[in-house]
Amino acid sequence: MTELSLAYLFQQQQLLVDENFQLPRVERLASDLSLNTGDQVIARDLQEHEPIPEGFQLVPIRQLLPLWNTQQFEHASRAIQLLEWRRNHKFCSHCGHETEVHPTEYAMVCPACRYHQYPRVQPCVITVITRGDNEILLAKNARNKSNMYGLIAGFVEVGETLEEAVRRETEEEVGLKLKNIQYLASQPWPFPSNLMLAFKAEYAAGEIVLQEDEISEAQFFKFDELPEIPFKGSIAYAMIMHVTQGHPVADDTREWL
Ligand SMILES: [Zn+2]
Repeated sequence: MTELSLAYLFQQQQLLVDENFQLPRVERLASDLSLNTGDQVIARDLQEHEPIPEGFQLVPIRQLLPLWNTQQFEHASRAIQLLEWRRNHKFCSHCGHETEVHPTEYAMVCPACRYHQYPRVQPCVITVITRGDNEILLAKNARNKSNMYGLIAGFVEVGETLEEAVRRETEEEVGLKLKNIQYLASQPWPFPSNLMLAFKAEYAAGEIVLQEDEISEAQFFKFDELPEIPFKGSIAYAMIMHVTQGHPVADDTREWL
């Protein structure tokens, strides 16, 4: 009897799960991407026309975040990013020849010029800013039409340190200067291929001036008067709970609190 593999089956950003949001087991195909997780775990893109098996459903991966533990989410995150990378590197970016999948590494190899293309992550800083001992800065993203307030975040630019990225993003988006910038934790975030690097910092100077195409509203909130904040499972939620409630950002069991 064939051993079945635990499978991350994607259609765009949706994942196939059963009624209890658990992964299916399937027979492995040669084209499947195998994940380095110790046991038989594979990832595969489902074709648009492929029928959904009885008892299963396609669920946006963001919706699974509050239901899953950190490890499940990190595996799904790795699967989605590797599939996306493989889809986007079918040709050599150096000479244009069709690439081949490396047999043992995560690399797409060009048989003509031997150029190896590896998956890349985009470092992204996210900062929780406090003022005094009971105020936190929360901001509304201009593209998000909900009432949710989040944290200041943005991509690290080429040649920049993480701390410089924290300072620059904060000045650009809300016009404030920071002090005491400290690293907290990180979270892989597969939308599309980010590594979120969490920092905390204290307000140092300045008045709030919004970068209006990015931020529609920002203000300091008292710890006990928070507005709607990002959902549990996101690093932003853990960071806000850390500064307002004293919870650890990630505990030893690696559960996001
Ligand atoms: Zn090449």
